[in-house]
Amino acid sequence: MDIAVIGAGLLGCGAALELAARGARITLIEALDEPLRGAALANEGKLHFGHVYARDDSLATARLMLQGALAMGPALRRWLDDSSVERLPRGAPYRYAVHRDSLSSPEEIGAHYQACARLAREMLGTGRVDCFGADPREESLRIPLGSDCNPACVQALFQTPEISLDNRAMAALLRARVLAEPRITLLAATRVTRAEADADGITLHMQGGQSRRFAHTINASWESRLALDASLGIAPPPEWTFRLKYVVHLRGMRPLGFPPSTVCLGAFGDVVMLPDGEALLSWYPSGRRAVSQELAPPDWPRGMQGEAAQALREQMLAGLSEVFPPLLALGDDPAFAQGVVQGGVIYARGTRDVHEASSGLHARSAIGRQSYGRWHSVDPGKWTTAPFFATEVAEHIMPRQRQVA
Ligand SMILES: Cc1cc2nc3c(=O)[nH]c(=O)nc-3n(C[C@H](O)[C@H](O)[C@H](O)COP(=O)(O)OP(=O)(O)OC[C@H]3O[C@@H](n4cnc5c(N)ncnc54)[C@H](O)[C@@H]3O)c2cc1C
Repeated sequence: MDIAVIGAGLLGCGAALELAARGARITLIEALDEPLRGAALANEGKLHFGHVYARDDSLATARLMLQGALAMGPALRRWLDDSSVERLPRGAPYRYAVHRDSLSSPEEIGAHYQACARLAREMLGTGRVDCFGADPREESLRIPLGSDCNPACVQALFQTPEISLDNRAMAALLRARVLAEPRITLLAATRVTRAEADADGITLHMQGGQSRRFAHTINASWESRLALDASLGIAPPPEWTFRLKYVVHLRGMRPLGFPPSTVCLGAFGDVVMLPDGEALLSWYPSGRRAVSQELAPPDWPRGMQGEAAQALREQMLAGLSEVFPPLLALGDDPAFAQGVVQGGVIYARGTRDVHEASSGLHARSAIGRQSYGRWHSVDPGKWTTAPFFATEVAEHIMPRQRQVA
């Protein structure tokens, strides 16, 4: 069976590998020069266990994040191998600092974390968990404010079981695996512009005038997903937002002994600490640079260099170090000025931004696959949930019992 996958992000590469393992021939079509250079690379690699989504009282988002996080390890073991997964660099568990301007109180947030742990216990029972050494069943404990938190900003501190993975290392492994897979043909630097469907297949039209026909197509194009769906007459959801967000990726930093930390709940940020002097800084008020509610966002620049990049590094550090003063020392490290500023697009339902309590961005449960005959449009929602939905769409198209040798 010839299947097209549009978009070689974590979702698209995962779906391609999953289908290839089931005997399909895949054409993976990617607008950029290489797989895994889009949001899959720009993100912070946080494996969400639901903690950020404390404003979704239904717990639907927390449940999906947990499903996604628990599917990540087994999926990578299938697509890569056990030893690569074991060696994937990961951070220590996150602390969550509740900001004085948080949209939820420490008590509400503490209750939500208990609910996340309870959900994880319901899902996992008492068995072994394959989650990069983390265990989402662990309770998040409220801990005293350390001397590294500014009490004028932080009203409560929790130790959670959430971790980050080195998503760049993961992307490099998956890229090599996709390129080596004989059942996957990569069409890089090729943008799909529109699609046409009939009873037996899907015709894809690509920039430059080329067209190809496939038995099935997976739309894993993230930021082009709504526009490509629309070319088939599929209506977008009632409201949505594309946001351009930048993070700063620091390499070769002197060890600071600072734990990974998220500031919640609202328009704040994170500091991600990984082994070997790697760190990521993200401060939402400085890093979120553009918003679009069009069917496709403009061609926003993803890189940033020179003075603009230095200014953004300093703004990110200023925002974070107001909350965590010891982070100021990062600015004295010679490697700070080399920090790579990388932008990526975030798609989500809703039009209000995260500083508003009523924002739809505080839930991420209306995600996943929607199939229209042979066209399968997948919104993975998060990086955390991409392998889960990659597996799900592959299973929908080629259930395991129909595998061919
Ligand atoms: C700054 C930032 C931080 C984030 N942090 C986290 C986090 O810590 N944890 C988390 O779980 N999630 C996080 N996310 C969200 C996460 O990155 C995305 O949800 C996820 O990566 C989407 O995966 P994807 O494979 O669908 O997207 P992508 O990796 O963007 O893949 C889509 C691919 O499709 C290609 N493409 C687009 N249009 C076309 C077309 N017309 N034709 C051909 N190819 C096309 C693109 O070039 C791209 O390679 C973050 C996002 C950003 C931007």
